Amino acid sequence: MRKKLTGLLAAAALAMALGVLGGCGAPVEGAVSLPETGPEAPTSQEAQDGASGQEVQDDALEQAAREEAEALAAAEAAEREAEEKAVAEAAAQKEAEEKAAAEAKAAEEAAAAEAAAQQETQAQQQEEKQAGSVYAAASGKGKKYHSNPNCSSMNGTKELSKTEAEKQGYTPCKKCY
Ligand SMILES: [Zn+2]
Repeated sequence: MRKKLTGLLAAAALAMALGVLGGCGAPVEGAVSLPETGPEAPTSQEAQDGASGQEVQDDALEQAAREEAEALAAAEAAEREAEEKAVAEAAAQKEAEEKAAAEAKAAEEAAAAEAAAQQETQAQQQEEKQAGSVYAAASGKGKKYHSNPNCSSMNGTKELSKTEAEKQGYTPCKKCY
């Protein structure tokens, strides 16, 4: 069917070319009438047309095969490209995840460090607050300072800073400090 059609087209083309070349007589008439009568009236011309049709078909097959190969190669290339892209994307994603994890870890560590620092500050403040005021006997020879003003049997206490108490030669009480 295809071969016949191709041959027909070739015959038509040839007829048209002949018509044009053949004379200034009636190229239009030849072009119109020949394709219709051509297949029904086999001549030596028909054989030639068949041969050229075969060549055309071979060319067409060759062309088709080439195109198919090219399409296949293109598809393979596209697939390869897609695979490479997928690998690259996976790598990028992995990198991003690792980066995110590292950032999260860093943030966690920073938060932990901050919390620790805060805790330390609080502890220091607490210590300073505790250390801020100590109690010593208001009178007598006691050279101890106490955290508890009711410690021992102090007859009246004075409140002073730990630094000041130490400066004055007081030492911490072993019972309450
Ligand atoms: Zn004490």
